[in-house]
Amino acid sequence: MAELPTNFIQQARDILGPKGLVQEPEQLAPFLTEWRDRWHGSTPLLAQPDSSQALAEFVSLCAQFKLPITPQGGNTGLVGGQVPQGEILLSTRRLTKVRAIDPKAMTLQVDAGVTLQQAAEAAAEHDLLFPLELASGGSATIGGAIATNAGGMGVLRYGNMRDLVLGLEVVLPDGQLWDGLSSLRKDNTGYDVKQLFIGSEGTLGVVTGATLRLFARPPTQITIWAGLERPEHAVELLAHLRGVFGEQISKFELISETSLELVLDHMHDARRPLQSQTPWHVLVEFGLSDPHSGPDQVFSALESALDQQMINDAILAKSQAEASALLALRENISAAQKSKGAAIKHDISLPLAAIAEFLQTAAEAIEQQAPGTRFCIFGHLGDGNLHYNLLQPVGMAAQEFLARRETITDIVHDLVHARSGSFSAEHGIGIAKIGEMQRYKSPIELALMQSLKQTLDPDHLMNPRLWFESAAQDKKDV
Ligand SMILES: Cc1cc2nc3c(=O)[nH]c(=O)nc-3n(C[C@H](O)[C@H](O)[C@H](O)COP(=O)(O)OP(=O)(O)OC[C@H]3O[C@@H](n4cnc5c(N)ncnc54)[C@H](O)[C@@H]3O)c2cc1C
Repeated sequence: MAELPTNFIQQARDILGPKGLVQEPEQLAPFLTEWRDRWHGSTPLLAQPDSSQALAEFVSLCAQFKLPITPQGGNTGLVGGQVPQGEILLSTRRLTKVRAIDPKAMTLQVDAGVTLQQAAEAAAEHDLLFPLELASGGSATIGGAIATNAGGMGVLRYGNMRDLVLGLEVVLPDGQLWDGLSSLRKDNTGYDVKQLFIGSEGTLGVVTGATLRLFARPPTQITIWAGLERPEHAVELLAHLRGVFGEQISKFELISETSLELVLDHMHDARRPLQSQTPWHVLVEFGLSDPHSGPDQVFSALESALDQQMINDAILAKSQAEASALLALRENISAAQKSKGAAIKHDISLPLAAIAEFLQTAAEAIEQQAPGTRFCIFGHLGDGNLHYNLLQPVGMAAQEFLARRETITDIVHDLVHARSGSFSAEHGIGIAKIGEMQRYKSPIELALMQSLKQTLDPDHLMNPRLWFESAAQDKKDV
């Protein structure tokens, strides 16, 4: 982007105030690189408005000057959409008010820059639950989670972000502020406009506030870890436990032995949950609200799973501290993996019935491309969502492995597509998966998306590099 016009800067300063406008390179730096250090960006200006109204005025000013914008929340996105490549960077980090909580209606209204953890804490003050749980929840914001339709570990029971949003406040690309902060659970009055912005990754507008659903806390929480031989046994175990506990299973996570080894090596105070070593593990959390369900029922369900050879062994956490230690093993896999060499990552979802066969077929195909690849596979099995991450073989140079990225990713995504799965289960498209959009989405769906973009953002000012083929060149430059 060319240098910003002086009269634009002056008007922006009037709208944003002295704290709201940053141009010093050292202050901009942390906003221009992401968690894994994969995407690096540039911007002539960081705008940090402290209210929805100021944000709307600023977007309107950008629209007058036809200046493109990249919205950013907590900068934890994994597909590069929040890292500007010359656009103005618009951060919600100063929109941090918990606006209102209604314990009787079980709703929470917050600014977009409130983190997932802060939202959960606000709900907990009233003994209620905001269930969207990500390992990045201390930094990821409500606005970012809405823009990416984030998932995480509680989706099995509570749904993803789309299921948790009752109303939205959004600044449109021309600067209009849409107040759609409804708290209604029923409202069949035409198109459900808020759905357009959920999962839109900042391409249609900037979310500035939201009304969210809260839930009653299940009175009894039980966490177990089980070791098993094969992924199909995990699918059987899920069906078995659902048969007994119905919707009371709140997490069902699959973890490969390689992932567990990485995390045990990474966390000095961590220890292997079971004495026996198996190729696969599951972490299951029950949120029991049925007074007839408790640890005895969980024990007995596990015993019968053991008898039916679905699992080899299992433990049940005896305290909150033990439950947290088990959860930490799952939550730290991404961090552990980061220090163990180059990775080629995939965030895929598949029909449950196809998972075991996919894992077998994909492993054989990848082994041919890069013998010795380490399979760091984990994910939200209950949702059919796997983080299918491949680590460089020991002894192979990182660059040599990464040179195979495109071939390997095409193999993985083709296999997923052939089994009616998705090449992006929860992280979105960003700039990382523009090629996949073209390859796997139907022409009709792509055309519909493009016409929505054209209608809401005719000058392509909101996150203009994302999603579509016209933006693909930028991806190569990143
Ligand atoms: C360790 C780790 C674990 C993770 N685990 C999960 C997981 O289990 N499930 C999951 O779904 N994701 C996960 N993520 C990804 C990430 O945390 C989520 O996508 C999160 O929702 C992004 O929120 P954010 O505030 O950081 O958004 P950012 O990274 O700042 O932005 C993400 C996208 O949303 C847009 N955006 C941000 N704020 C707004 C806004 N207010 N209005 C409009 N557009 C906006 C940006 O332009 C960008 O395209 C994980 C990330 C990390 C680092």
